[in-house]
Amino acid sequence: MSFTVQGWCPGALRPMASGDGLVVRLRPPGGRLNTRAAAAVAEAALRFGSGVIDLSGRANVQLRGVTRESHAPLIAALRGAGLIDADIAAETRRNILVTPFADAATDALAAALAGVLATAPALPGKFGFAVDTGAAPVLRETPADIRLERAAAGGLILRAEGLAEGAPVTAAEAPAAAIALAQWFVAAGGVTDGRGRMAALIARGARPEGALAPRLAPASACAPPGPGLCPTGALVAFPFGQMRAELLAELAGLGALRLTPWRMLLIEGLSYLPDLPGLITDPAAPLLRVYACTGAPGCPQALAETRPLARTLAPQLPPEAVLHVSGCAKGCAHPAPATLTLTATPAGFDLIARGRAADTPCRRALGAADIPSLPEFS
Ligand code: SF4
Repeated sequence: MSFTVQGWCPGALRPMASGDGLVVRLRPPGGRLNTRAAAAVAEAALRFGSGVIDLSGRANVQLRGVTRESHAPLIAALRGAGLIDADIAAETRRNILVTPFADAATDALAAALAGVLATAPALPGKFGFAVDTGAAPVLRETPADIRLERAAAGGLILRAEGLAEGAPVTAAEAPAAAIALAQWFVAAGGVTDGRGRMAALIARGARPEGALAPRLAPASACAPPGPGLCPTGALVAFPFGQMRAELLAELAGLGALRLTPWRMLLIEGLSYLPDLPGLITDPAAPLLRVYACTGAPGCPQALAETRPLARTLAPQLPPEAVLHVSGCAKGCAHPAPATLTLTATPAGFDLIARGRAADTPCRRALGAADIPSLPEFS
């Protein structure tokens, strides 16, 4: 099993080369696109890219099919919409995930944290913060290293990933305390060769002390929701988290958009579910239980196409089963175990039961045409 692990995270200013051109990853401030910014993204995707837009598992927006020539004018257009950081270092550092169910206080907290990030020490590229201070935490299943949440007893807590409890903080203290926890992470030996995660440091027995010492339990988490109406608007999903720019432009006309790590957008204030091609609004849709990475030809590491097979298999999935079709053993689309995983190899697809893309298969070297008739899919 061989695949390339990038030591850095692509962004807008440092795009990633892919099989269909450059992938430009945007991290909208506060995880929100107002109607003007959303329309600007849609227009830029059409004008400077292929018009294909992906939603990432970290609530980012990715524009595909950008060329070396169109990258600079794309950045200029998006900078005008307030979506581009001053430089690559600032872009990399601003790794803040915000609950899509943010209230004004949460938005203010996320903005205040972003405002002090320049004072943070050098952190690994994937090191991130989660501001999950809505009515109930919803981001627990999304990787993060430092979390701001509500305590079960009320008030805010700052929690290091891997610890069951957090330190109490006020909203005014929270940004500086989050930076102090990041400083502790570095000082405690959390970074090796530019890499490291909080949970791994905690697993080695390190514990923050003093004001950062964990002592309050967080509120119980809510499971990530499916598409449908919620108190703050309409949640809509997309097959494999991908849409055309024309659809984004239509959604931009319906309201401001909150990004989620669940391949969905929240259209703020909308009290009905829009009926548009390319949207999934039925929470029972089988495609919601199917993960498939870009695959061939979009990803240069892919050993097969993934999404056509995933679409074919979706209606055949047993109830509750989760399917992951991966173009290689890296398993980008779904790092967690799935009920069934199909991993492309040079010899065909391997089938893994209740595991990850790189786990030991129960069947090997399957032809894509033969897979739908396997007993696992009937
Ligand atoms: S899992 Fe898919 S997207 Fe990730 S590297 Fe492999 S083929 Fe590419």
